[in-house]
Amino acid sequence: MICLNCGRKLRSAVSVEAEYGPVCYEKMFGTSLRSSRKDRVSEVDDTACYDIPGQMTIEEYLQTISE
Ligand SMILES: [Zn+2]
Repeated sequence: MICLNCGRKLRSAVSVEAEYGPVCYEKMFGTSLRSSRKDRVSEVDDTACYDIPGQMTIEEYLQTISE
């Protein structure tokens, strides 16, 4: 399987499924190939956000509002 835009070989299963490489996919559709798999990616991103030291957790934030 090759990229429909630039003809390069597609290596990842995600790219093969989309029929474009990650870079070309982003150019064509204006969105990244990875973010098209919303459920998983956003879940990971959210967790990363909440785990940053020194930042409010969502629970702390909600407490601030209710007080
Ligand atoms: Zn390409």
